[in-house]
Amino acid sequence: MPIIIDGTIVSNAILDRVKAEAEELRRERGITPGLAVVLVGDDPASATYVRSKGRMCERLGFHSITHRLPASTSALELLSLIAALNADSAIHGILVQSPLPGHIDYEQVVETIDYHKDVDGFHPVNVGRMVIGLPAHESCTPAGVLAMLTHYQIPTSGRSVVIIGRSNIVGKPLANMMMQKREGGNAIVTVAHSAAADLGAVTRNADIVIAAIGRPRYITADMVKEGAVVIDVGINRVDDPGSEKGYRIVGDVDFDAVAPKCSAITPVPGGVGKMTIAMLMLNTLRSARGDFH
Ligand code: NAP
Repeated sequence: MPIIIDGTIVSNAILDRVKAEAEELRRERGITPGLAVVLVGDDPASATYVRSKGRMCERLGFHSITHRLPASTSALELLSLIAALNADSAIHGILVQSPLPGHIDYEQVVETIDYHKDVDGFHPVNVGRMVIGLPAHESCTPAGVLAMLTHYQIPTSGRSVVIIGRSNIVGKPLANMMMQKREGGNAIVTVAHSAAADLGAVTRNADIVIAAIGRPRYITADMVKEGAVVIDVGINRVDDPGSEKGYRIVGDVDFDAVAPKCSAITPVPGGVGKMTIAMLMLNTLRSARGDFH
């Protein structure tokens, strides 16, 4: 049976460390990490994410504020709020929950955030610094994948990694992180996407397959070689009339069929999904400590 890479175990280990280091920062320098979350509109999933970030701040003893703005908020109003948060010395991390209403340009919003406070790691300065190997806030989900591999001591150096997906928030930053000469990196990285004519021919060569596609159970057993490590970033809702909610969450990997072939695999839920918030809290702590100034 494969090792099940448990996102709860890894994220709790990181959160315990963040809590202890935040207490030290408060004791020694009188600084409490502060996170501001901005929610525009009333998307229920976004509201749930925002609440969970607030609760996590409470658990870690962080200062946290949430700005809930109506969907009619103008771009100018949002940019003014960000400017105020940039100038607020009690706030070390600013997160604007996506998606934003269609009349607001998300990229412009991200670029308005002081990159030192861009704890999502989406600001072009942070992305660029990461790509050239400088200290930066790193995109939370990819950083979470590296943290999982490191925690389970899964070697990546010189190994062939295939990442399926090239989004700005997962595939691209993850590919760049995994090719850096660093812990969890130094891999031989291939990025696949929807133009791949025969995806299986690419993934079957990989020691490590990382799926960030957004298609339920798309990676099947025949696409993975014997003994591969499989990391499933996907979070997909599928109908499940038998369940209380009428749906359930599955990954991009057909877990039941793929797991017996793997040496290690992440489940969904309980895998990568647990990591993103832990890395967000770590970035907020680092920002408060001034690690990148
Ligand atoms: P995205 O922006 O929709 O990107 C999906 C990528 O998959 C694209 O690059 C797309 O290729 C590629 N793709 C789509 N169909 C494909 C196919 N048939 N064969 C090969 N490649 C294909 O999605 P995302 O934001 O990166 O998210 C991916 C998944 O991860 C989603 O399920 C999302 O919910 C999940 N996610 C989880 C977390 C977390 O765990 N906290 C965070 C973020 C995302 P093209 O570029 O050619 O279109």
